[in-house]
This record gives sequence, C-alpha cells and structure tokens, in this order.
Amino acid sequence: MAGIYVHVPFCKVKCHYCDFHFSVQLKNRQELVDALCQEIRERKDYLASEIIETIYFGGGTPSVLESKMIDQIMTTIHENFELSESPEITFECNPDDITQEKLMDFKTFGINRLSIGIQSFDDNVLRFMNRAHSADEAKNAVINAQKFGFDNLTLDLIYGVPGSSMTSWKKELALMDSLQPQHLSAYCLTIEPKTVFGKWSKQGKLTPTEDQESITQFQYLMDFCADKGFEQYEISNFAKEGFISRHNSAYWLGKKYLGIGPSAHSYNGLERSWNIANNIKYSQLISKNETYSESEVLQVTDHFNEYILTRFRTKWGVNLSDLALISAPLTAEFEKKIQSYLASGHVYRENNTYLLTTSGKFIADGITSDLFS
Ligand code: SF4
Repeated sequence: MAGIYVHVPFCKVKCHYCDFHFSVQLKNRQELVDALCQEIRERKDYLASEIIETIYFGGGTPSVLESKMIDQIMTTIHENFELSESPEITFECNPDDITQEKLMDFKTFGINRLSIGIQSFDDNVLRFMNRAHSADEAKNAVINAQKFGFDNLTLDLIYGVPGSSMTSWKKELALMDSLQPQHLSAYCLTIEPKTVFGKWSKQGKLTPTEDQESITQFQYLMDFCADKGFEQYEISNFAKEGFISRHNSAYWLGKKYLGIGPSAHSYNGLERSWNIANNIKYSQLISKNETYSESEVLQVTDHFNEYILTRFRTKWGVNLSDLALISAPLTAEFEKKIQSYLASGHVYRENNTYLLTTSGKFIADGITSDLFS
C-alpha cells in the first residue's frame, strides 16, 4: 500500500509566518495542473503497481483550484493508479474557499477528509498573521462541511503566536472543541528568517514568544486534548478514535509515496527524490520532457536516521528490532547514547521500544538529532 501527495503551490495571499513553496499568481493554475497531470502519467510506475491507499492534496492552498482542475487531477490519478476499496482522500482548504458548490464537488470527486487551515479563531490574530479569512468564516467552514456530511475533519491551529497568552490559547482550544472535529494539528509558530515575521523580528518590530510560554501552551494543549478524548499520536497531531491520518502515518511508518508537483518529495523504499521548487520552471521542464527532479539512493545511515527522526515523534516510538534490521552496529551505538536521556527522564522504554516522555516531547528535535549516526 502506498500514498500519493499532490502539491498545489498557490495561495491567495502570503501569510506572514509562512516559508512554504507557493505562488500568488493564480492565473497560472491551469498550466500547472496540466503539468501535474503529465507528471502523474509519467511516474505511474514509480510505486511499482502498489495499491494506492491514500491521496493528499496539500500546499499552498489546494482549495484555490477550480473544481474542473481537481476533477482533472483525480481523473488522471484514477486512470494511472489502482486505488484501494476505501482510500483516504484528504484535501487542504482555507475557510474562505469552502463554498457549498465546492463541498458538493469535493464529494463527487471522492474527497472524504478535509483539512481546514484555521490557525486561529481570533480576528486580531488572523489579521496579524495576514490570513485571508475571518474567525466567522473559519467557524462557518467547519459547520458547512459537517452539514454536507464530511465526518472526517481536521483543523489546524497555531500556538506560541507573539502576543498570545494562556488565556487566549485556552479560548482557541475551547472553540476548536465546540466544533467537534475528529482531528487536530497544532503547531508552534516558528519565526523563519525569510518571512515577514522574520523581517519584523530582525528589525525589532516583533518580539517572539518566550520559549517558556510556548512550552506552557504546548503542555496545556496535550492535557486539553487528552481530556477531550483526542489521542496524541504524533507530537503535533491529535485524533479521536478511528481518525488517525492514514496518509501522514504512512510517512512516519516509512511507507512509500509519490509526491507530485513543484517541491514535492517522493520515496519508493530505495531512493528519495524531490522536484524543482519553482512553478514556472517545473511546468516548462515537464512540457519539454526535461528533468525536473533530483534523487539520491538512501544509504544505511540515511535509513537509520530517518527511522529515528520520524518514529520518535510518534506514539509508535523507536523499536530496537526495527533498528537492528537496518543496522546492528548502529543500534548498539544508539543504545549507548540513549542512556543519558533515560537517566534525565526525557525518554522511557516499554518492552523493546523507546518513547519520548512529556518533557522529552518539548525537546524532541534536539534529542533525535543527537541520536543520529
Ligand atoms: S495559506 Fe498556507 S501555504 Fe499559503 S501562505 Fe498561508 S500558511 Fe503558507
């Protein structure tokens, strides 16, 4: 079983914190969609006839596509891949794009999971982050999707926003819960250098949230979600029973996937490849039948480090038998290094598996990179 990721690199506006790959030139959408479809056809053998279990439209903002474009992409996927009997098909949307017509079309195309980029329910915060929607639009998007029978919704929220407090974060989470989504992704805002926030921060116009405040908000997030019946199955992802994202879990469990579109990455078990991160060049190269991606064959150390990187963040943890299958000598080194984190209480061991404790989750990135070979 494998997955397909389709990268839709367009947004209406640029959010002040975002450093993803996208363009605000919406007039180029059709040309890009044609290129995406050509890539789907060209790479139909990349996954060696594996059945497709999940499809994920991410971005950018996939919901800026017109329905006929989504139809074109889905039809091309169906023509070139075999889908499982009940695939999970996720579509990322921004609240301002969720019209009744779009929701009906999503159903027709087989989309059965919507990821709604809310980020905040506070108009002041939305304006500060330069989001294209209001708080009311965010709430109505969820309510309308539910009215149209979407019963697998995931919402995105951001914490640690400059100027936020525990009071404001508690309000955000309570509002989220009142809408009864099946899944939540909550990310701590990081200030990236090449963003508007990065520029403001450098100029002294914006004061990043203190680490301790972000940690307190993260701790509350975990407690709140546990209390409301969400399982934290990955550091930033929380699901009600039966609603773990099958697509994202597949990444973390090392399954194969094909990434379509500018900047998309793919993995077929042996090599990793990545497409050029430029919309115009991507379309031009595809239309001229020229190379638009690079690849590398993964070495034992790459497999080993990737396993640690992805699994430590999840509830499945780092299993010693899995690690030893990749490399017994590297596993022996890993076992030596991890002792200090066991002693400090950042990691615990359950049978043959190492997992992060709550305090370990706060410094997950540091722990994982330290344990790399
Ligand atoms: S809508 Fe999403 S991808 Fe687009 S700029 Fe905002 S955060 Fe980035």
